[in-house]
Amino acid sequence: MGSSRHRSRDPAGALPPVYWLGGRRFTHGEWEAICDGCGLCCYEKVREHGRVVATGTPCRFLADDRSCRVYGERFEACGECVKVTPEVVRQGEVLPDECPYVLLWREIEDQEADGALGRRRGRRRP
Ligand code: SF4
Ligand code: SF4
Repeated sequence: MGSSRHRSRDPAGALPPVYWLGGRRFTHGEWEAICDGCGLCCYEKVREHGRVVATGTPCRFLADDRSCRVYGERFEACGECVKVTPEVVRQGEVLPDECPYVLLWREIEDQEADGALGRRRGRRRP
């Protein structure tokens, strides 16, 4: 997963463990706070025509209030549970389009694209 385009901006590893999404840095708490607990990523998925598609079947540990019944041990309890990392967000397969992580990543991508465009235009100026 991932590509050189999305490589961490902290290649030397000089900073303490944090999450990097594009050029933005998040502490663990900041990263976790992005999740609104909607539970939409907690539905079983199948691969169709090379794409990951969510089914209408919730994970067996998803409670009616959309909380996870085994949150502290979710990765041990559920083999399909995926930790939300910047790589997972950038890969764009596991999380639904309306997930705040995905929306944030799109915003960052747009800003980076605008910045690159501006830099290219700036270079063309006489
Ligand atoms: S879809 Fe996104 S916001 Fe909703 S529970 Fe999953 S990670 Fe959190
Ligand atoms: S185990 Fe993972 S996929 Fe299942 S409800 Fe908990 S957080 Fe969601």
